[in-house]
Amino acid sequence: MTADLVLQNLRQNVEHAKRIVATTVEGLAARPRDCDCGDALAAALITQPADVPVATRRRLGVLLERYWGPAS
Ligand SMILES: [Zn+2]
Repeated sequence: MTADLVLQNLRQNVEHAKRIVATTVEGLAARPRDCDCGDALAAALITQPADVPVATRRRLGVLLERYWGPAS
């Protein structure tokens, strides 16, 4: 086994893993949710929004805006 073969196998495995993740996420998104997992973060946010730096709120906006609104 040469280094080129190892790298070729690694690249193939990466592409295979990407397809698996994409297919899995698509399948999950298509399934109706019948649990409360989607709101789990609501009870986990302990820090007051005003105490979180705006840069952090913006960076985590995709997760936090739902609960705290947009960062100013
Ligand atoms: Zn769930």
